[in-house]
Amino acid sequence: MGLEKIKAELKAKSGFRASILDRGEKRVRDVAQVANDQWEVMGRPELGDEFESYTVTLVRDPFTQSGWRYLCSCYEHRSGRGRRRKLCSHALAVILWRRHNNFALTDNSTGDNGERSS
Ligand SMILES: [Zn+2]
Repeated sequence: MGLEKIKAELKAKSGFRASILDRGEKRVRDVAQVANDQWEVMGRPELGDEFESYTVTLVRDPFTQSGWRYLCSCYEHRSGRGRRRKLCSHALAVILWRRHNNFALTDNSTGDNGERSS
């Protein structure tokens, strides 16, 4: 599936803003899988990153509808609880990367319900 189509789908189904989808898209080529449920996303100063790389992990979370959520290491660096709840563009890049590589087709654990930002 093409990235444009994936973005349009995420926007329609999960209510992501276009601006964060665009930032996530710019990061897709910076995504490297390091484990089954873990990815490394290269930091980009032009996108506001302070660190060289960020680690995104897919974890069990019984409080989301899908039972899964993405955690990013940038959540630890930033203060404030509001930030923590929102999906960052690093995690979004991983979502786009996984769909682009067709992982989502065989893996329902990361269904749309788990990717809402609210
Ligand atoms: Zn992040």
